[in-house]
Amino acid sequence: MHTKPEPPYWTSEESWQAVNQSLFKLVNDPALKGMENLKASAMAMAEEMNKLDKLMEKLCQRTCPDCLGVCCLAKNIYYDFSDLLYIQLSQDKAPRRQTRKGLDEPCCYLTPRGCSIPRNRRPFICSWFICSDQEEIISRMLWGKERGLIKSLDKLLVMHRDLEKDFISLAC
Ligand code: SF4
Ligand code: SF4
Repeated sequence: MHTKPEPPYWTSEESWQAVNQSLFKLVNDPALKGMENLKASAMAMAEEMNKLDKLMEKLCQRTCPDCLGVCCLAKNIYYDFSDLLYIQLSQDKAPRRQTRKGLDEPCCYLTPRGCSIPRNRRPFICSWFICSDQEEIISRMLWGKERGLIKSLDKLLVMHRDLEKDFISLAC
């Protein structure tokens, strides 16, 4: 009987190379009409992600230095299909490997100074996850630019979902 593989997926070097090479071929296949529109959407997402980065960095500076339960140590953070698709469509290089080989390992991109890769190459969950300390700060945000963070996150969630949906209807 066929059983669905448990995450994290693509933990071996071979499977990581294989999934990224297949996606690369698909997103650059000239026979798949409409892929250029998806690439434009992914580029727009990358731009939105850059805006989000500035706001998230400010928020993290306030909450993360004293945190006792660092979220990057959570077991359920790994690249999924939609993350790799977004990275390929935005014409970025694939990350060098899956975040972890097994659920008991910490994320390989975590360093004593925080995450070592740019926000737009991290698994998407790393950007939309807001912890309770940050939620509290956001709920008190009644001023200026910072409120843009909520808008930016909402926009990115919709874009991320639509990108995968549109790709599947194009490629299948
Ligand atoms: S985002 Fe929140 S849970 Fe994660 S390290 Fe920062 S303070 Fe801690
Ligand atoms: S990719 Fe970066 S932000 Fe995401 S879990 Fe790993 S270290 Fe944390």
